[in-house]
Amino acid sequence: MRICFMYGILSFMKVRYTYRLRPSKTARRRLMREWGMCRYVWNRMVEESKRRHELNRDEGRLHDEEFGDKTAQRYLTILRNLTCDEHGDRWLREGSVVAQQQTVRDFSKARKKALLDRKNGIAPGKRAGLPRFKSKRDSTATLNYTTRGFSLYDDDGGTRLRLAGGIGIPVVWSRPLPGKPSSVRVSQDTDGHWYASFVVDKPAETPLPETGRAIGIDPGVSTLMTCATIDANSTIDETDAYDLPHPEYGKKAQRELARLQRRMAKERRPKRQKPSNRYLKNKRRAAEIQRRVQRQRQDTANKWARRIVRDHDNIAMEDFKPKFLAKTTMARKAADGAIASVKHALEWQALKHSRTLRLVNPSDTTKRCAHCGAIAKHRIPLKERTFRCDSCRMSRARDKNSALNMLCRAGFIPDGVDGVNPRWDAVPTGTRPANREIPRL
Ligand SMILES: [Zn+2]
Repeated sequence: MRICFMYGILSFMKVRYTYRLRPSKTARRRLMREWGMCRYVWNRMVEESKRRHELNRDEGRLHDEEFGDKTAQRYLTILRNLTCDEHGDRWLREGSVVAQQQTVRDFSKARKKALLDRKNGIAPGKRAGLPRFKSKRDSTATLNYTTRGFSLYDDDGGTRLRLAGGIGIPVVWSRPLPGKPSSVRVSQDTDGHWYASFVVDKPAETPLPETGRAIGIDPGVSTLMTCATIDANSTIDETDAYDLPHPEYGKKAQRELARLQRRMAKERRPKRQKPSNRYLKNKRRAAEIQRRVQRQRQDTANKWARRIVRDHDNIAMEDFKPKFLAKTTMARKAADGAIASVKHALEWQALKHSRTLRLVNPSDTTKRCAHCGAIAKHRIPLKERTFRCDSCRMSRARDKNSALNMLCRAGFIPDGVDGVNPRWDAVPTGTRPANREIPRL
């Protein structure tokens, strides 16, 4: 989650910083107990919301919005006071009230979203569903704390995280925390690793020096991002200096994943039975591989985006719709490239460093000649790698031609490619949606 705020001239961003936790056995047990209580609270909320819904329906009322956050929070107080075990102990009170209140808040938010979607007539498959029961087996632990519920304290081993109830946990400070955190989310992944994700108010970065350069970016399948740049002297560069080749992380992991999945298929038991240890082990291993692939992709995307933003003031990129490639024969390779996440990384870096990023409407950018502006009459199949213009006989690498078109359409080449400047509006393409600009800080 990345949110930006403006306070007068000084701008701050809310940024998440995530660190690995190394809880002791005791701490792990206590975290799980906290989570068990939060899960219980969540499930009681689901139950109560259902009960009220049915009550409303029986009485002929259509809307059941009165179980909002305030009511739910009051209901939590009642739950904490009245839930007893067989010895009469009010065990829910032993857990952190902050974490439980946050659980209720999350529940209310999810419920509100679902009701709003329903009200707005969003189709059942697409709208958010009402919150459902969380089972012990299929849910992973997540605990949220506001400043009231956690602190950082120095121990002889370094700075530790202390959660409400006095749970102290060593943190792996892989990088320094840039400010005082306003909240923390402690969560467990499917491998059983624990993480703390802090929300920090961070001052905006010092601005990068201006470069006078602009770049046009065309996303694709074999080369993930094809680039063409123009510098302050209007010199166009079509070399591969900034191109991002397809890293194929998923393809490399595919063989191992397939083997694990075959093994898991053999070990699978009916739904109600406890899965075998071997099955669980393979499942964990598969999740680990997938996570590794995801991290590699993220890392490559971030490094590339940072370089693009550092070296260019103005960035033009296709307003890419991943659905198109998902329908082609190269769907698997396209998905492995994770173009959307690269685009997201670029948007974030541009925002962070106050660079101009224009998302260019992609219609005709592959069919148009960047030199003379003529649009090819025929469809150009994906395997055709060179663009040959019928009007001016120019021939260019297909993706470079598109990248140049991105630059033109975004208005970053005032003199046109090769000194020719056919205006976009001179091209009769019917009604064309406008480019989108990513807002700047
Ligand atoms: Zn041409």
